[in-house]
Amino acid sequence: MISQLPYIEVWYPENNSLASSPSPLKHESVLYFPSYLKHNTSTDVLIVGSGIAGLAAARQLLLSGFSLVVLDKGRNTGGRMASRHVANALIDHGAQHFSVRDPWFQEWVDSAIQAGAAKEWPTAAFNASTRYIGSQGMRNLMQFWAEGLPIEQNEQVVNLKYEADLWQVETQSGKNYTCKALLLTQPLPQALQLLQHAQLVDQFSFPADFHTLTYTHCLALLCRTQQAPNWDSVLYPYGVQEPFSVMVDNLAKGISKEPAISVHFNAECSLEHYEDSEEQALAFLSGAVKHLLPPVIEMILTRWRYSQTEIPLHMDCWLSPETSLPLLAFAGDSFRASRVESAALSGREAAKQLAERI
Ligand SMILES: Cc1cc2nc3c(=O)[nH]c(=O)nc-3n(C[C@H](O)[C@H](O)[C@H](O)COP(=O)(O)OP(=O)(O)OC[C@H]3O[C@@H](n4cnc5c(N)ncnc54)[C@H](O)[C@@H]3O)c2cc1C
Repeated sequence: MISQLPYIEVWYPENNSLASSPSPLKHESVLYFPSYLKHNTSTDVLIVGSGIAGLAAARQLLLSGFSLVVLDKGRNTGGRMASRHVANALIDHGAQHFSVRDPWFQEWVDSAIQAGAAKEWPTAAFNASTRYIGSQGMRNLMQFWAEGLPIEQNEQVVNLKYEADLWQVETQSGKNYTCKALLLTQPLPQALQLLQHAQLVDQFSFPADFHTLTYTHCLALLCRTQQAPNWDSVLYPYGVQEPFSVMVDNLAKGISKEPAISVHFNAECSLEHYEDSEEQALAFLSGAVKHLLPPVIEMILTRWRYSQTEIPLHMDCWLSPETSLPLLAFAGDSFRASRVESAALSGREAAKQLAERI
């Protein structure tokens, strides 16, 4: 643990001053963590992944007084909560929206709504159940939630060692970090590959279903179009044989200033065409959904190798047994359900359990 608790103060970036909060936990939703907590290479916890699970865990651990760093291989914070500009259009190309059931997550989402970073998406497609989106796309929402957290993007963790009661973590760029506890929040098959590469898998007795858990691929088309589509906001292929799982109108959703449509292909079609060249995949996929799209100005293909897991693990997260070191934890959407809220809850739960063990 770090000796002082600077992060129990609310930092107001407007006037650059630190103001003591009489009851910081009550202000959790508006906490800003001071920037001097960044770039610490020796911490209590190192979190791999700045998706929603990693951010939820980081917030929880900082509020409990632990030092940490979050490393992510991507250019942007957010993982599968991702958006992309295509000319003047803004298109969500991972998670399209999310629902909320848990009171803690609702409070976190409400804080983003109050700040203008998230909003409800009232559309008939959801049969009156409330769905939330980033007001300016999912990526922007994740940047809002990541504000002030000690996150280093473009740092892919490539190797791990455990020596003298500490994890040693090496990134592709050659940086080295040490920590007491390691929390991996990437999809479980990726996390296990990392441990396998480090020849550390045999050190742990993982439940058998860890090794059989699989993720589907998802191919997505980001289309800038001449006009809005002739369907309303969201299109699901209910009862019809189509190769897509959902199409979303990003203009109707209110995040894009120009007509722009996201198309997610279903698991079967995505698997079949996942290894196609870009040219082949674009030709096939655009042809397959042409009848549902207005004239297209520009089209971009994205590939999610680990999209969603069909059969998640029936536990909140996983921690190595109390009786043995190293202290390792897994969280993310491999647990509970492959959904935004479940991943957040998994990250928070792993952080709570780690806090009792470090
Ligand atoms: C196409 C698509 C559509 C979806 N639609 C919805 C939806 O509508 N509603 C919903 O609720 N959910 C949806 N989901 C699922 C939802 O996006 C995920 O469940 C959730 O975002 C997972 O968050 P996470 O933090 O567990 O993982 P991720 O967001 O995947 O975060 C893991 C992070 O780990 C990083 N990482 C991996 N390996 C390394 C490494 N070696 N070193 C450093 N960093 C590493 C990755 O870059 C990534 O940022 C969708 C997902 C996809 C792909």
